[in-house]
Amino acid sequence: MPRPPKSKSKPKPAATPSKGSTRPRLLVAAPDGTVYEHPGFEMALDNGLDFLRVTPRDVIPLKEGWDLMAMPGTRPVGYDPSNGQFVTLTTFTADDGTTFEPWAVACHPPPGYVRNHHAAAVYTDETHPDTKIKALHEEMEAKKERDAAKAHKRGLRVLDAAGDEARPGLPLWAYTAVGATEQGTVAALFLADETTRWAPELFYKGDLKDKIATRIAEDPDNQVLRQIASCATESLCCCASNVFNERWEGAVPIAPACTAACLGCISKEPEWNTPVPQKRLKFQPTAEEIARVIASHLERAPEPMMSFGQGCEGEPTMNGPVIIESIRQARARTSRGIININTNGSRPDTIRACAKVGANALRISLNTFDRDVYTMYYRPADYDFDDMMRSFAVGRDEGLHISINLLIWPGWTDQMVEVDRISKLVDDGCLQMIQLRNLCVDPGYYRKALPPRSQRGPLLGMKGFVKELHRRHPTLRFGTFNPRLAADWWPQVPAFVGGRL
Ligand code: SF4
Ligand code: SF4
Repeated sequence: MPRPPKSKSKPKPAATPSKGSTRPRLLVAAPDGTVYEHPGFEMALDNGLDFLRVTPRDVIPLKEGWDLMAMPGTRPVGYDPSNGQFVTLTTFTADDGTTFEPWAVACHPPPGYVRNHHAAAVYTDETHPDTKIKALHEEMEAKKERDAAKAHKRGLRVLDAAGDEARPGLPLWAYTAVGATEQGTVAALFLADETTRWAPELFYKGDLKDKIATRIAEDPDNQVLRQIASCATESLCCCASNVFNERWEGAVPIAPACTAACLGCISKEPEWNTPVPQKRLKFQPTAEEIARVIASHLERAPEPMMSFGQGCEGEPTMNGPVIIESIRQARARTSRGIININTNGSRPDTIRACAKVGANALRISLNTFDRDVYTMYYRPADYDFDDMMRSFAVGRDEGLHISINLLIWPGWTDQMVEVDRISKLVDDGCLQMIQLRNLCVDPGYYRKALPPRSQRGPLLGMKGFVKELHRRHPTLRFGTFNPRLAADWWPQVPAFVGGRL
């Protein structure tokens, strides 16, 4: 298992930072997790294809108290302003004389924020000094090349656990570039949503356990309610907590299995020697117990929304009869609030049936509108890209509010061709909102899986991506959370709430 990457330590400033550059400085981590500022190098950015020199417009202050993460198995890349070169650090000597092989440092974006640049790093499967590991890796690489040649026409590479012994897989976070300034740590992020309902102080309160006990006493045999209780207390899930706090968006997990096998699934069994943070539920609930949870929340909560498929279960439309019947029964009790289906879009006919019995909103998750890259990442079991696209048309025809949960990857998402594909969907009346979701995956592996540079168009940057779509479609909304559709003032909220891009 890789070492947990979160580093609680504040960066140790260099005792004698070199003069000459006022740009953010490079951070490096020691294998014990201590983070140090480099005395002379600037932080570098990675746009998904190239390393870039940082400018003040690229970064914002990182929220106070937000963790930095060391990236085991990587080497940090900085920019040396004395000679204009990007440098991969293989050793670092701290002010106290300690010398070590440094790891790159990153942060995971706080809720509501979008990653604009990856942490600049190289991955030690290419640079590791251990020759035995290198030989093993070369052998595995040769095998993967043979598999890839068989499997893909476009240069997409087959990734599997077999070749990954060269370094531990990184846990599934969105590794974002960070640097050090006199004022504190900065990160290559921008704000894309308002976060008033998601502040930590609104959750994790001492009265949650009492509220759970009271609510479970009302419906003691409901396995779904018990699952949500464990999601609230063990996984600290905000939407699960909302069910017991009887407010806003609640989550109703119903799916123990999925129609896809995404490379970066957070609830599937681990691959690539990479740990996953969430566990799927282990039973198939009945329509009746699901309906009771949904209806109670919709009846009681302010701004009520109940979401299927909220993050770390399987695919909620996989068992069509159960989800359809649960919505029908919930709607027989109340017409209040929003029933929202987060889905991979694999079951358009089920989505249609859900809409007919009272679902209101649809959010389809995908990493791209490129068929091959979608298939490479989602690895659909019994559906294909066309089924997923058909779900958009179904949602439009049934009058659902449609969002995408776009798993963004600077260097791929921000190509003009992706903007054009999304534009087409908006023009067809099939998309009202983009939820910009930072793809959490091992960056070393995902970048190898994407098509090579020769098959990518010019990059706009993630801010440029939003700007261009906003310019073309002024009413297309952007955010990172499900929209507050149950609030009567929602239509007046600006399409992009993050301010200046
Ligand atoms: S669609 Fe969702 S639940 Fe299914 S494999 Fe992908 S990330 Fe996991
Ligand atoms: S999002 Fe995950 S943790 Fe939250 S209720 Fe759903 S399954 Fe549980």
